[in-house]
Amino acid sequence: MNYQEVKNYINGQFVSCNNKRIDVDSPLTGKVISTVPLSTYKDVDEAVTAAKKAFPVWSGMTSKMRSQILFNYRQILEQNVESIAAIIHDENGKTMDEATAEVRKSIELTEFASSVPQIAYGEVLEVSVGVQCKSEYVPLGVVASISPFNFPHMVPHWTVPNAIAMGNCMILKPSEIAPITAMKMGEMLKQAGLPDGVFNIVNGAQDVVEAICDHPGIQAVSFVGSTPVAQIVYRRATSNLKRCLALGGAKNHLIVLPDANLELSATDIAASMCGSAGQRCMAASVMVAVGNVNPLIEKLCIEVEKYKPGIKMPPIISIKSRENLINYIEEAEKKGATLLVDGRKFPVEPEVDKNGYYLGPTIIDWRNAKEKMPEREVFGPIFEIISAKSVEEAIDIQHESPFGNAASAFTQNGGIAKMVAQKASAGMIGINIGVPVPREPFSFGGWNASKYGTGDITGKSSLGFWSQIKKVTSKWAKQEITDWMS
Ligand code: NAD
Repeated sequence: MNYQEVKNYINGQFVSCNNKRIDVDSPLTGKVISTVPLSTYKDVDEAVTAAKKAFPVWSGMTSKMRSQILFNYRQILEQNVESIAAIIHDENGKTMDEATAEVRKSIELTEFASSVPQIAYGEVLEVSVGVQCKSEYVPLGVVASISPFNFPHMVPHWTVPNAIAMGNCMILKPSEIAPITAMKMGEMLKQAGLPDGVFNIVNGAQDVVEAICDHPGIQAVSFVGSTPVAQIVYRRATSNLKRCLALGGAKNHLIVLPDANLELSATDIAASMCGSAGQRCMAASVMVAVGNVNPLIEKLCIEVEKYKPGIKMPPIISIKSRENLINYIEEAEKKGATLLVDGRKFPVEPEVDKNGYYLGPTIIDWRNAKEKMPEREVFGPIFEIISAKSVEEAIDIQHESPFGNAASAFTQNGGIAKMVAQKASAGMIGINIGVPVPREPFSFGGWNASKYGTGDITGKSSLGFWSQIKKVTSKWAKQEITDWMS
């Protein structure tokens, strides 16, 4: 399907600009489906001006009024699940089932934001006779969100609904690789009654991100993407004295014991490594086998054969990313690792376009390799196996990883599961679960090189990021005159 050219969305209008444009191609076919502008500081400045203008009215509304608009928006999302999912499918390549699940998650995130008046209403206490202390959440002003290609709808919903529910005005910078879905957010938020200027979109790449980090009118920057860019953004935004929360990449370790449930573990790990073609920051990346878990590995190898490229296994986002994954497989072979399943050999399903950027699931066994598994993030349907002599050693291995998004234990032993949960150096722990994403109202966020900044990006924890607390201490002389409210 072809889409109209991607436009910036400023002050409630889709605006054309004369900036250079780049192609947006669909990983399903390799064909160009749209173009996206490479905006500049000037475009960010226009969005900031619109957002600043909207801020007094938006922040002056009660949080219940703001929440009502988000509630309307939630209903609009609900009515459009399929059409939004179709765009995600086209621009990102994930299957329609995965794209539908992504929109459903956006709905859940919007529901949480609609409930902000029930959660973030401050506190009050009479601290001594006649003296009252009150704290309240106050919005920051104009804030920004920079998102990656792999969840073009859900990641903006990690940030936008909560930020605007708290009374801020928002500038979104979508991934230039998958920028089409975000336009639906502008359209539907307006339909829900959001005043113009409260939500804006500036498309582009590095220049826009740098402008967001530098612009003095933006108070806080959230980022989700790879670790090298998260570091650049965190350094640049904070050096400009802005608040910043930057989520980075991942390499998630699964500590697997011989007593793990064979059937459930194999299907769960296969779904985790193959879902969205492994392009999820919570995907299963590395099995640390403690003892003999070969029966489970054998079952896993059979299970992943079901993920045939084309129907159950979506394509990789770009030719370049696919090449990087193939290079990684070749590097592993050169280092003496064994390929238990080789994704390069999978035939593409006959129903799909052969020009799509497909790669089958790959399982690399490093247990007898000459060299060690590289520590870098792979971000594709590649699962690696290493071994440890004990659970303690497995935890040490997990600690050596620079990342800390997720870590899991697969075992029927409650004591071992508890130990992994306590000791693993990761923000999100799974026990017998391949994708341990916390659901609302729990918050999402990793540790170490998977996140820079304080707090998490969703849930209650994020509300602190999008606000500041005002403390009011008051003492009034006893009133002589009373009215009907007294
Ligand atoms: P990316 O880092 O390449 O891009 C993310 C954003 O940064 C995009 O909007 C892009 O335009 C911008 N950008 C890219 N290079 C830049 C530069 N040099 N300077 C300034 N801005 C730049 O990430 P991606 O490839 O779009 O997404 C995949 C990555 O995101 C993976 O590493 C994945 O693990 C990570 N991710 C992490 C989480 C998490 O929760 N931790 C969630 C989703 C994705």
